[in-house]
Amino acid sequence: MSELKRYGHEKLRQAIAAVFRAGKADEATARTVADMLVDANLSGHDSHGIQMVSYYVDCLNNGTLDPAGRAELVLDAGAVLRFDGHMGFGAVVGAATMEAGIARAGAHGIALVATANSHHLGRIGYWAETCLQAGLVSLHFVNVHGHQPLVAPWGGIRARMGTNPFCAAVPATDRHPPFVLDFATSKIAFGKVHVANDKGIPLPAGAMIDAQGHPTLEPATMIPDATGGALLTMGEHKGFGLSILCELLGGALTGGGANRPERIVQETTTNGMLSILIDPAALGGFGTIAGEIDALYDFVLSSPPVAGSDSVTLAGEPERRARAERLQAGIPLAEQAWANFVAAGGRVGVAAATLETLAGA
Ligand code: NAD
Repeated sequence: MSELKRYGHEKLRQAIAAVFRAGKADEATARTVADMLVDANLSGHDSHGIQMVSYYVDCLNNGTLDPAGRAELVLDAGAVLRFDGHMGFGAVVGAATMEAGIARAGAHGIALVATANSHHLGRIGYWAETCLQAGLVSLHFVNVHGHQPLVAPWGGIRARMGTNPFCAAVPATDRHPPFVLDFATSKIAFGKVHVANDKGIPLPAGAMIDAQGHPTLEPATMIPDATGGALLTMGEHKGFGLSILCELLGGALTGGGANRPERIVQETTTNGMLSILIDPAALGGFGTIAGEIDALYDFVLSSPPVAGSDSVTLAGEPERRARAERLQAGIPLAEQAWANFVAAGGRVGVAAATLETLAGA
């Protein structure tokens, strides 16, 4: 396993923003994208952090990511909003569509926000956490197309879907932090295959098959050629069903489109996201249900832990723990991950020495 080095989050933000500025993003956009990526590293999801810079630069260079792309409101029907992201940065498109949805949920008690044609929306928990800051419960169904499908359907051996994430969050009570459930419907996110490859470690069992359909732990099976194998769905047939639901809601219903052969042609990531934002005030206020939530969490957490574990953990806790630790100790990056970032900077004309100085490398 290669060595890990720690980087301060503020300095990483500066270095990442410098790359996107050089990639023709304006100052605010470059910072917004850097903030979203660094937040993913802070929350422990290195697959969606600085590692994505290289991919975003490739998409800028191949013209499939528009640094000036913004969310356009194409349907306004009160509690229902539909946006076209015009392949702008997901960090910018998602911020705009969630802001609008939060305002509508405040006015109507609920908002349905369809976000079509966004470039990569990153860690979807980031958007649920944006809704949490406004005191809202939210659900997000996301599909992915624009590149080679990565996930095999249950019962099949050839990739047909993206890693289609699902996310849901419920605000904190006075006694418990928020519940933030956020996962790819593949057993692991594809970025984690890259992380394993960079670190030189095997994949978890049951995550990938090779082109013949045989189980494999070797991340390089799908790197650099993703058609060398396929990821498997989480939860077997249940994850498969949820993945298809993400295609139906995040792809077909938003108008962004579902995964089909015509949409594989570009080397990019197009996300469609159907978000449902619920203001608990519309159901009598969060205070009236907080007692119920506390009782549930208390009961669940009172289960004796399995051997080797200290306690039962609720969704959202691993990310909070990672954030607390990494804010203090820095973000650990594999040598290869840093090298990939520096190489990406080079592809938009930023010198390695500049990035090293900015990041304190
Ligand atoms: P994961 O397997 O790490 O699961 C994360 C979820 O499980 C979180 O809600 C976490 O709090 C919870 N969790 C983790 N350990 C737990 C435990 N021991 N007990 C209870 N709950 C626990 O995540 P993943 O599937 O690898 O996805 C990683 C990220 O990738 C997500 O943020 C997802 O949104 C993102 N993603 C984005 C795209 C895209 O196209 N934008 C595609 C796929 C995935």
